[in-house]
Amino acid sequence: MGPGHALWLAIGWPYRIDFDEHAAAGQLVVPAAGAGGLARRTPDPGILAPTGLGLSPAGKKIGVFGGAFDPPHKAHVTLAQTALSELALDALHVIPTGQAWHKARSLSPAENRLAMTRLAFQDLPRVVVDDREIRRAGPTFTIDTLQALQAENAGAALYLIMGADQFAAFRQWHQWREILKIAIICIAARARFNWVDGEFDTLNELQGSILTLQMPPMAVSATQIRQLLAGGLGENQAIADLLPNPVASYIAQHQLYKAS
Ligand code: ATP
Repeated sequence: MGPGHALWLAIGWPYRIDFDEHAAAGQLVVPAAGAGGLARRTPDPGILAPTGLGLSPAGKKIGVFGGAFDPPHKAHVTLAQTALSELALDALHVIPTGQAWHKARSLSPAENRLAMTRLAFQDLPRVVVDDREIRRAGPTFTIDTLQALQAENAGAALYLIMGADQFAAFRQWHQWREILKIAIICIAARARFNWVDGEFDTLNELQGSILTLQMPPMAVSATQIRQLLAGGLGENQAIADLLPNPVASYIAQHQLYKAS
């Protein structure tokens, strides 16, 4: 057993990404050399028992999965399912973002994204669609949400779920070091997303508070879906394969993502 083994994930211990393993599985494509010795690194005891992460065995395990969800798609649902089962979460807060500071484009109205998020995740047990970031005035920062959840759930371990593309930019996040003190970062590989050398620097600073989720990469993005819909392909089978049915119906009913 070692990093990447399902049991490690079930126990919820954080460890460093084993890049060789994921590259071999075709999930993460990483340079074989020049990665600062990160590949095949065995977790040290300090990584397995970090302080300040609230990893009380008796405490609840709470997942936090934020996103624009513009619209929510099947990879989002699969990622949530994977996190719920692999991490044995007691609850997963799915949190549509308010004004996302890191999204360059303006998002669809929050009420539409919230409604679609509720529809997308309605069949998943232990999912709470949490509208706190939409209700919050001003820019949305993950650290604020995590601190609020920590205060509401004393003794809980917080697991912050994200795709590899988000993780690559993690050091640009507001107060990212504070995030690491209170949450374990759980990363899903993203299809067509390759790691590049610069991103490896991040990992040296993460001090083991990360783990990877064993989800096969899915070539789905909200951008691609918006483009298909704007191109008038809303009835196309390709869309049906990418979106949960109730979300596709909502989009059609509300005429979202039409070319203006
Ligand atoms: P966009 O294309 O508009 O940037 P998106 O498809 O990345 O949108 P978001 O709502 O921005 O969707 O993503 C929310 C979270 O889900 C992010 O952490 C993102 O990395 C993750 N995610 C989205 N799509 C995938 C996917 N296909 N595989 C793994 N993670 C994903």
